[in-house]
Amino acid sequence: MRKCEICGAALPQGSRAWYCRTCGIKRRRERDRARHQRLLEASAPRERFCESCGAPLVPGSKARFCEACRDVRGREQAREQRERERAYLGEMGRRQENAREEAAQQRGLPHFRSGLGIEELTRLAREHRTSYGKLVAWMDLHRRRPGADEELA
Ligand SMILES: [Zn+2]
Ligand SMILES: [Zn+2]
Repeated sequence: MRKCEICGAALPQGSRAWYCRTCGIKRRRERDRARHQRLLEASAPRERFCESCGAPLVPGSKARFCEACRDVRGREQAREQRERERAYLGEMGRRQENAREEAAQQRGLPHFRSGLGIEELTRLAREHRTSYGKLVAWMDLHRRRPGADEELA
């Protein structure tokens, strides 16, 4: 004779069930409840956390970072952008400088780097037997028009 697997009560003769009626109903109810719970959990938006600081994110939000970290990241990205621009302008400046030097060389003219201090400019003016004012004016002209052939002195 078979017995209920849960409570051990004798099952009716010839029954092929594992559980008595009462335990069977209880077991089915528990299984239904568990399945219902699983469905609920699967459909609820999964809780997510900031990838940077781990703070919980607004349920259902698709953001990867919390608001505070987004602010920080935004600032960092803006800084990186500025640095890229500065590096680019530096590169552009160097290329222009090289182009000016080449143009000057081709015409046998002296070339003066930009960004020289007053002392250096005064020394160069003396070296080229001209005045500081004339030198600066000449440099300015050549910056706008590389290879212009006005006399320096
Ligand atoms: Zn039972
Ligand atoms: Zn965060």
